[in-house]
Amino acid sequence: MTFAGNGIGITRGVAIGEAHILQRGLLDISPRTIDSKNIPGEIKRFRLAIKGARERLQGIREKIPSTTRSDIIAFIDTHLLMMNDAALVEVPIQLIQQHAYAAEWALQLQRDSLVQVFDTMDDPYLRTRRDDVEHVVNQIQMSLLDIDGDTEADLNGKVILAQDLTPADTIVMRHQGIAAFITEFGGPMSHTAILARSLGIPAVVGVHNITRLLRQGECVVVDGEQGVVLADADQSTLAHYQSRINVAQGRATQLRSLIGKAATTREGVRVHLMANIELPEDIEATRELQADAVGLYRTEFLYMNRQGMPDEEEHYQTYRRVVEGLDGIPITIRTLDLGADKQVDGCTATSCNPALGLRAIRLCLKEPKMFQPQLRAILRAAVHGPVRIMIPMLSNLQEVRKLKALISETEADLRHEGIPFASEIPVGGMIEVPAAALSADAFTRELDFLSIGTNDLIQYTLAIDRVDDEVNYLYDPLHPAILRLIQMVITAGERAGIPVSMCGEMAGDPRYIPLLIGMGLREFSMQPGSLLIAKERLFELDAAKLTRQTRKLMKRLGESDFEQLLDKICTRH
Ligand code: PEP
Ligand code: MG
Repeated sequence: MTFAGNGIGITRGVAIGEAHILQRGLLDISPRTIDSKNIPGEIKRFRLAIKGARERLQGIREKIPSTTRSDIIAFIDTHLLMMNDAALVEVPIQLIQQHAYAAEWALQLQRDSLVQVFDTMDDPYLRTRRDDVEHVVNQIQMSLLDIDGDTEADLNGKVILAQDLTPADTIVMRHQGIAAFITEFGGPMSHTAILARSLGIPAVVGVHNITRLLRQGECVVVDGEQGVVLADADQSTLAHYQSRINVAQGRATQLRSLIGKAATTREGVRVHLMANIELPEDIEATRELQADAVGLYRTEFLYMNRQGMPDEEEHYQTYRRVVEGLDGIPITIRTLDLGADKQVDGCTATSCNPALGLRAIRLCLKEPKMFQPQLRAILRAAVHGPVRIMIPMLSNLQEVRKLKALISETEADLRHEGIPFASEIPVGGMIEVPAAALSADAFTRELDFLSIGTNDLIQYTLAIDRVDDEVNYLYDPLHPAILRLIQMVITAGERAGIPVSMCGEMAGDPRYIPLLIGMGLREFSMQPGSLLIAKERLFELDAAKLTRQTRKLMKRLGESDFEQLLDKICTRH
């Protein structure tokens, strides 16, 4: 059947393949009671179903290749933990005992009340936890109803159509060679969407009724960039999409040919391209792409998807693995940036406005017991390779001084305990708060380097919550106020002779690189996937010309010809 539909495109890339409709999804569970004498048997059936679901998931986890990123494995571990959680195990058993409900119905009632709680939450990340409940309940119910998954089907090259997919499904199917997937439910922040992006699977979510509208085996086009789904397309449409696939493949090969070439502008000005990493596994990409350094190692991941805090040894072993894995590539480890949008269990936000509350360095200085294990571990890991420490969200010099005093104390403790550590590690700060940008000169006198965190700098300067979709349209890296602050920081670094880098998303966006080069920025840190595109852009640029154009622009910030001058330097959209 000819079909054209729209959903939310969550991963770049196009795929063409045969539709494979998953024969499951939201199961039809209706109210049912049992004879009260069968209650013990029903409880036993329920426990066995959980055991079965757990074993199936454990089996999937064991088959995941060891090279898989640990955040991906963590999705499955979270589901395994949930299968032991009293809310999903004990509460349904109580309902079976008290009301003689059939196990499926008892579980469904508990699912409904949990989902209701998640639905009232404002936080978009926590709302995605609703998906976890749905996925785990779904797996237990499949086990209760004795419905098998499609684990044995030949999915190679197929486009999967489903009401929803669990992270575990996504991983398994990726290894079965699927070309793409389309779901009826899910949003861009769901775990499955995050996974699809990180695994590079073209995907479109939120295409209502797709599993009913298409037939098994039909030829489907999935455009993960535009969120478009086409079935039974004519030859010329198919040829158009096929040529997009060919172009993308050719482009990837072309970009890979830049690996190993030093990043310079056209006239040979050397620029340092560094990687932002989050997971120990990202080191592989950093090495493979031959990044000049790791400009930002976000350590918060160590605290996510778990109960309790990591201890010093866990910090140390993780950092040591990363430092050794980088094999001499220098790394900048950012100290904990918890709070605001990066919440973890056991560390509760007390402020009614967490983005302006106790986050990042503020939290670390307030809670030295939580912070010190990390600091000790970083100093110890620095014995194994070149390490720098970076402080997030600085707003005044007292914070720098307190942190440095804490480092000295930590060094003294380690020395006293006879534990090897590296001393005189360079200490830098992130410029993410307008107050810090405005006083960048003062920070250069007390720090060894600066790094501009534009994600937060834009949030705080323009007063827009970076996770609030409603105000996302105001998020403008080219706002004159932002450009003025960035220029102030770069100039302060030049005057003091200390390096300044940028590690916010702006640094990895090829549209802004010419302007930043014109401003004098020579160190860019970005997600590994952007490194080669940035390098390619740099090769085309004339730094001397951009410097002249940008100087002129900076004198005309906000004036009538500002946008015209800006257009000469960079693409705005
Ligand atoms: C930033 O704010 O630009 C930054 C790099 O830090 P994060 O995105 O982790 O807050
Ligand atoms: Mg930040």
